[in-house]
Amino acid sequence: MSTPRILLAAAGRALVAVAARALSPPACTACDARLADAGVFCADCARTVRPSRARRAAYPLRGAAGSCVAAGAGLVAYAPFAGALADGIRRFKYEDRPDLARPLGRLLLCAALDAGMNADLLVIPVPLHPRRLAERGYNQAALLAAHVAFGLAASLAPRALCRVRTTAQQAQLSRDLRLQNVAGAFRVREPERVRGRGIALIDDVATTGATLAACRDALLDAGALSVTCLVLASAEGGADDIRSPPPSARRT
Ligand SMILES: [Zn+2]
Repeated sequence: MSTPRILLAAAGRALVAVAARALSPPACTACDARLADAGVFCADCARTVRPSRARRAAYPLRGAAGSCVAAGAGLVAYAPFAGALADGIRRFKYEDRPDLARPLGRLLLCAALDAGMNADLLVIPVPLHPRRLAERGYNQAALLAAHVAFGLAASLAPRALCRVRTTAQQAQLSRDLRLQNVAGAFRVREPERVRGRGIALIDDVATTGATLAACRDALLDAGALSVTCLVLASAEGGADDIRSPPPSARRT
């Protein structure tokens, strides 16, 4: 089957899964316990999630031209990668549960609003390689990005970034290998949409931040004014790479 057909079939599978779950009663994102209302977690699971009120706005990034960009640029995470949030994200990604984009997207939108993100931003997901997209059936970052863009009334550019080569799965690599693995793996496909814009770059998890940093650098090199990374969960002590200045800032 050709790649577009494979992707179409994958999107069809994801749609059917979402439609089937939409007819089910509300359930906990982490353990499927029945919920009385449309919450995200049951009471037991909710106790294991510790949203950070002081969201991380870690490093004042600089635009490619060297101008200091708006406050809040850096990394914003809803909570540490732990407990029921980690369980929910794993199910969302690896257990064929695209329907979980809805509750998890609500959490991500909370983090975005807390961090002062607004409709001026252009929302861009971290892309998956088409082969991995066909395997999974959906790009979890793209589903989350759609929720955030809708909630902020911001523009969504789901195809602005693309992967120019496949990369080994980051989860299996050491920090140094992760950096090597993703360096130069991303390209801006729509530079005219990105130029001069503040970007909200969306992914599910920041582990070392290597993937986010590679995407951020591609966007800044294409002329983006600023890039704020927005993730559901950040590994404890992780995301070091996103905290370091991008190459364009180091040059200034
Ligand atoms: Zn639960």
